[in-house]
Amino acid sequence: MTIDKKNKILELNRVGKSTRQIAEIIGIHFSTIADLIKSNKDIQAYAYCRMCGKEIKIPNKKHGGVTRAFCDDKCRYKWHKRFGPKKMVSRVCEFCRKEFTSVSFRNNRFCSRSCANKSHGKNHL
Ligand SMILES: [Zn+2]
Ligand SMILES: [Zn+2]
Repeated sequence: MTIDKKNKILELNRVGKSTRQIAEIIGIHFSTIADLIKSNKDIQAYAYCRMCGKEIKIPNKKHGGVTRAFCDDKCRYKWHKRFGPKKMVSRVCEFCRKEFTSVSFRNNRFCSRSCANKSHGKNHL
């Protein structure tokens, strides 16, 4: 069964359609639908892991689940490292006082390598 179909079944179940009604809409035997609903009581929807494409289940919010798009933390980490938005912060160069932007996790103190070098040179004098 495709993820779209599964999601449709879960959605119809959520809005209060009976197993037989869903079976008619989707066109699958109602026992298959009953099984799916029974085994996915805590599931809000199905999705694909954004990183590896593995099928994942998104738990219901009321069960403490949050919308997930990754099968595990490893994939989440990999994805954010590769595609995640880099948080930019603005800093002031300690040498030339020019404002510059830097990736937040980097602790840049200077706007450029040359300012860093000049500053180091100055300190050594
Ligand atoms: Zn994954
Ligand atoms: Zn500078």
